[in-house]
Amino acid sequence: MTNGKLFVVPTPIGNLKDITIRALEVLNSVDIIAAEDTRQTLKLTNHYNIKKTLISYHQHNEQGKSDNLIEMLKEGKNIALVSDAGTPGISDPGSVIISKCIEENLDFEVLPGATAAITALVYSGMDTTKFLFIGFLPRDNKDKKAVIEEVKDRKETLIFYEAPHRLINTLEFLKENIGIRRISICRELTKLHEEIIRFTIEDAIEHYKINNPRGEYVLIVEGKSEKDIEREKASKWEGLTIEQHILKYIDEGLSKKEAIKKTAKDRKLSKSEVYKYSLDI
Ligand code: SAM
Repeated sequence: MTNGKLFVVPTPIGNLKDITIRALEVLNSVDIIAAEDTRQTLKLTNHYNIKKTLISYHQHNEQGKSDNLIEMLKEGKNIALVSDAGTPGISDPGSVIISKCIEENLDFEVLPGATAAITALVYSGMDTTKFLFIGFLPRDNKDKKAVIEEVKDRKETLIFYEAPHRLINTLEFLKENIGIRRISICRELTKLHEEIIRFTIEDAIEHYKINNPRGEYVLIVEGKSEKDIEREKASKWEGLTIEQHILKYIDEGLSKKEAIKKTAKDRKLSKSEVYKYSLDI
């Protein structure tokens, strides 16, 4: 028996028209649709008059459900995987079944389509050449702090997902941990109440204290500016003599030669000039 094929199918993030012709063809042609929440997917399939068996494939049992789907694929069934909205695998279940297909050498296709992160990023007007998708920050404070520590000094534009009841809390956390930066807040994308507001993080907090957050949100935060990076670097050695500056690097574990090189670079001096200050070290 030939194996079936898995199709990873993005679905709209609000506006039901945001689905590709190919996605509809695939949903119409498969034997089974594996859905994160079958009731949610039913709204879409009913809208397009697609009559298929829906089975649930959700985050809480992604491992076990993936094994079931693998069995079905081996039985020759063609399966479409969808999430509640947008692209499966992006802050949604999907990656487990895909890695199992790769392991088991089973055929799969990923269709391109809607994802809230990319629509919001483009809406923000910020730098799109390099960006970092973070998705939902962890709930646990320690984990949340670890994530922000990892990304707070990056130059790339940052993308976060957030639920309305945690929006203010998250904005306050961002203000505390990455300071005042530009932020673009995209709400209810593609829906009736779509709204894009561009603020500083500080102003956003004030705004949402007055206007209760409602709906789904993507936060696009500008990356750390080159100016701030340079300023912070300089603040680490400002006030030190050249000799102390070299010693600081040596204390951090660099060789004398490397310390001279870095000191010269920081101070925009020649290595030979800095070398003179290292003779007594
Ligand atoms: N797989 C989805 C995708 O490709 O974007 C993301 C699913 S994740 C569970 C749900 C989060 O995505 C929401 O909490 C919100 O942050 C964001 N999101 C989804 N649809 C949105 C929309 N229409 N407007 C704004 N944000 C949205």
